[in-house]
Amino acid sequence: MNGLTYGLIRTNGGKKLVVMGENDRIIADPFKGECYRHTSTLKVCDLSAENTECLMALFPYTKPTSLRKHSITIGTGDRLGLATPGHIRAIRKFQVRPVLAQQSVRENKQTGRNFAEVIQDAAWAVFQENYQGGYGADGDHLKSFEEVKDALDAGVSMVTLDLSEKLNLEAFQDPTDVIDRKFKEEIDKEDAEVLFHLFLNKEFPFQIPHGGFSVQLDEESLKRNVLLFHKAIDFTEEVYEFILSRSGGHASIDFEISIDETPFPTSLENHLFFIIELNYRGIHIDSLAPRFIGEFQKGVDYRGDLSEFREQLYHHAIIAQDFGNYKISVHSGSDKFSVFPDIGEMAKEGLHLKTAGTSWLEAMRLIALTNPSLYREMHQFALSIFKEASKLYPVTADLDRIPKIGTLQDQELPSLLGREDSRQLLHVTYGYLLNAKDENGKNLFKDRLYQTMSKYEEDYWSLVERHIEKHIASLGVAKENSE
Ligand SMILES: [Zn+2]
Repeated sequence: MNGLTYGLIRTNGGKKLVVMGENDRIIADPFKGECYRHTSTLKVCDLSAENTECLMALFPYTKPTSLRKHSITIGTGDRLGLATPGHIRAIRKFQVRPVLAQQSVRENKQTGRNFAEVIQDAAWAVFQENYQGGYGADGDHLKSFEEVKDALDAGVSMVTLDLSEKLNLEAFQDPTDVIDRKFKEEIDKEDAEVLFHLFLNKEFPFQIPHGGFSVQLDEESLKRNVLLFHKAIDFTEEVYEFILSRSGGHASIDFEISIDETPFPTSLENHLFFIIELNYRGIHIDSLAPRFIGEFQKGVDYRGDLSEFREQLYHHAIIAQDFGNYKISVHSGSDKFSVFPDIGEMAKEGLHLKTAGTSWLEAMRLIALTNPSLYREMHQFALSIFKEASKLYPVTADLDRIPKIGTLQDQELPSLLGREDSRQLLHVTYGYLLNAKDENGKNLFKDRLYQTMSKYEEDYWSLVERHIEKHIASLGVAKENSE
């Protein structure tokens, strides 16, 4: 490039960019760094925010981009900012595109990172792996206007708007007379007329190969859906217009709506009502994350009725194809091996699967393999704060079923990553482990964790690669022939 050679090197001070070539070309090169002059010149540069901008300008494939035109996409959160090369090595074997930078505000709070740093880490990993297929950056589970703005400022290519705090959940429990009254009070008369016209006593039929199904809303169900969603839909509209205005009227940002963290499963009526309302207001979405029946707990397999799940997913996917051809997005998608074949089959025309914590668990596996004493300390600490940590995530781990760590030999430690209870233990406590401090305010584990991780980074990438490859393969995604 420009007659210069660019590459990454490992140093004691972390990874650096080196630029090599003729002296006058190096002077013209925009990266900031320290120059060492011989017959040719060598420049060593930090992976700073400023240099990341140069990187994205010079190698455009390192900049996050919309993945709208790819029907199967996978979000691979990288909490530590170290897993991305492993993600890329798995993903490039398949006909799938990755959202490599994907963190929620909640995750960033726990790891002490921000959206910009998350994207930077992904960009340099993309450069390192020379992955030119295009990748996304997702501001995940954004709940307010401010959070959306922060994520856009940092350069995300995807916004996941979480509506859970804007839904009026009382609309589910209130008795009919209260629903009638609230509907009259809260919904403008003209709006109500439009809604009745759009929905009332209409049958929405869907054709599928073996028969079909239809969705209808009676007056009560319509009123409940209106009350449930109307503030959320206003909010969606506001955010959508903001995103459009930021991207000069072009929809260059992938827009996902998530209603997966609600206390009730998303019914077909909910889904249909919501999407018809969005269409009516001219709001285009690229993916929708419903909440499915059964349980999608973090880091372990699906729990629930498989055939019911299968049917429900299929029907959601059909509605999505008919009403805007957006993807169904499956969250907490890591390790759901019993439902992956169904998910892959049912949502062939449009699927986004988000995995997040599973690469963190692979990091803990690496620690168990390479630094048993650190693993033991972290495990013990996790046990001590599990009760508190499990308030943040719905999990059912039973600590009594985890073998006492003092009774295990070092070589038995990695097997703890194969057991559901200990997986959940380590999954929900990651923020506490990263933030734990000793009496002098020094990190208890974080620094040693990062040191071990960078010493054994190739081993870590192999673990992550193998694990994510297993995910994609069990979805039944076609292999990439060219590589
Ligand atoms: Zn979610």
